Amino acid sequence: MVYPIRPRRGFKLSSIISFVVILSVLITIFISTIIGYNTERKSLFNNTIEMNGIAALNLSKTTESLVVSMQKSLKVTADYFSDVELRDRNVLSQLDFFMGTSPYFNSLTIVDKSGVIVSTSPNNLNLIGSKPTSEATLESLRLKKPYISKPFHAITNRLIVMVSHPIFDHNGNYKGFVGGSIYLQQANIFRDILGVQASTTSGSYFYVVDSSGNLIYHPDKDRISDNVSSNPVVQKLMQGLAGAQRVINSQGQDFLAGFAPVPAAGWGIVSQTPQDHITNISANVIREMMKFSAPFVLLLVIISFWLSRKLAHPLTRLATYASRLSGGDESLKPLTSDVSWNYEANQLLDTVAVAFNKLREQKEMLHAEANTDALTGLTNRRTMGAITSLWKQQGTPFSVIIMDLDHFKNVNDRHGHHMGDEVLKFVAGIMLSEKGPDDYCCRFGGEEFTMLLPYASEDEAVQVAERIRLRIEQSVTPIGESVTMSLGVATFPEVSEEVFELFKYADQALYQAKRDGRNRTVAYSSLLQLTRI
Ligand code: GH3
Ligand code: MG
Ligand code: MG
Repeated sequence: MVYPIRPRRGFKLSSIISFVVILSVLITIFISTIIGYNTERKSLFNNTIEMNGIAALNLSKTTESLVVSMQKSLKVTADYFSDVELRDRNVLSQLDFFMGTSPYFNSLTIVDKSGVIVSTSPNNLNLIGSKPTSEATLESLRLKKPYISKPFHAITNRLIVMVSHPIFDHNGNYKGFVGGSIYLQQANIFRDILGVQASTTSGSYFYVVDSSGNLIYHPDKDRISDNVSSNPVVQKLMQGLAGAQRVINSQGQDFLAGFAPVPAAGWGIVSQTPQDHITNISANVIREMMKFSAPFVLLLVIISFWLSRKLAHPLTRLATYASRLSGGDESLKPLTSDVSWNYEANQLLDTVAVAFNKLREQKEMLHAEANTDALTGLTNRRTMGAITSLWKQQGTPFSVIIMDLDHFKNVNDRHGHHMGDEVLKFVAGIMLSEKGPDDYCCRFGGEEFTMLLPYASEDEAVQVAERIRLRIEQSVTPIGESVTMSLGVATFPEVSEEVFELFKYADQALYQAKRDGRNRTVAYSSLLQLTRI
C-alpha cells in the first residue's frame, strides 16, 4: 500500500536557531540604541538648558553694568553742561569730545528744556533747531530724571533706544537733557558685546527685550523692535524673573532657553539653543554608535549562522537519513553516530542510529530471504526470473547454463538426505567461486542449478560450464567422494528471443548431456547442427 506523502512543512532547525539569535541581537541593539539615544538626549537637554541659564545670567550682569556705565557716562556729560550755555557754539565741539571718549552710543544729542535740539554728535546741522516729538523726548523732558526709552523711530527715521540724563544748573534749574542713542539696526554696543558670544555650531544665540517685550537686540536685524511678549520666557522676564526652560517661541520654534533680567534698564536677556540641535547631536551619537558596532554585529551574525548549523548538523543528518530511508534509497550505508557539542543531539543520534541500523538489518535480512535460496544462499528461482526478464527488456545478451547432478538419488540413498544437502551446498560454493562479477548463480530447484552470464557468448559459457564440471568431478565432496554433473548451455537472443524457450532449449541440451553418458556439457547450438546433419 502506498501512503500519500504530505508536503514538507516548517523551517530548518539551523534557520530557526540563526533567526532567534539574530533577532535577539537586533532587539538588544535596538533597545540599547533607544536607551543610548534617550540618555544622550536627556543629558544634552539638561546641560544645554543649564548652560543657557548661566549664559543669560552672566550676560544680564554684563548688560546691567553696561547700562549703569552708560548712565554714569551720561551723568558726567550732563554735569559738564550744567553751567554751560547750551546754545553756545562751543557746545558742539564739547559734545564731540564726550562722544569720542564714550564707547556706548552711536550718537549724543542735547535737547533744551523747550524740546529743541541744540547740539548733536556726530554733528548733524539739519537736526539742530528741530523739535523731536517722540515719546522718548517728551518723557525725558517730563520726567526730568535719568530715563531709558523703548525702541522708537527717531527724527532721522533710525530705530533707536535712547538713554537720557537731565541737565540741571548749579541752582538746580532744569535746562534740558543729554540723550545717548543706540542705533538698534546698525553696529552698536549690544552687537559688540552680545554678538561675539553667539555660538555658530550649536545655533545658540542671545536676544534682549525691553520691559514691554520689544526686541532691542537680536542677531536677525529684521526682527528688532518686534514685540515678542507672547513668548512665555519673555513674560517671565517682564515679571523680573530669571530661570531656564524649554520654550516654543513666538514663531513656533522649539528652544531650550535661559533668561535673566537687567534690572537697571528693565530689560531681559534670553540665551537659547534650538531643540533640533539636541536631536541632531543625539542622532549623530547613535549613527556613530551604529557605525562602530556594525562590524561586531556582522561577526555575530556569521558566528550565529555557523554555530546554528553546527548545532543542527546531527539533527539535519538524521532528518536527511530518515527521508532517504523512507524514500527507499538502496545505497544507504549504516548510520554512524557522530560527535556533536550538543548532548541531546548526541543522545538522539545514538538512539536513532541503533534503531535505524536494526531496521536496516531486518530489511536486508528480509530482502535476502526473499531473494535467496535458504539452503545454498544462491539466488532463488523467483529472482532469477526477474533478472532475466529485466535483461530481456533492456536487450542485454546473456547465456544460461543449466546443471543437474548425476545420479543424485544414489547420494541420498547411500548417505542420507542430510549429506545430500551438504553436497548441494558444496556444489554451490564451487559455482560461486567460478562466477564472474556480473554473473548470477541460482538454485533452480532440487539438485538443479543455473548460472546467468550477461554478455557471455555460447563458447564463453561452455568454458565456464566445463571449468565448474571439472572442478566438481575432481573435488572430494562432504560424502568423501566426488560427484559429477551434466550441463546444458543456451544463448539469448541467438537461440530464442523468449526467456522461457531459452530455458527449455538449455534443458534439452542438458538432457542430451545425460543421454550422452552424463558428466559433460552440451551447447544447444550443437543439437541444431546434429539435427541438420
Ligand atoms: P539423473 O539426474 O542423473 O538422471 O539421476 P538422479 O538420481 O539425479 O535423478 P533426478 O535428477 O531425477 O533425481 C532427483 C533427486 O534429487 C530426487 C531427490 O532424492 C533428490 N533431491 C531433490 N531435491 C533434493 C534436496 O533438496 N536435497 C536432497 N538431499 N536431495 C534432493
Ligand atoms: Mg534432477
Ligand atoms: Mg539428477
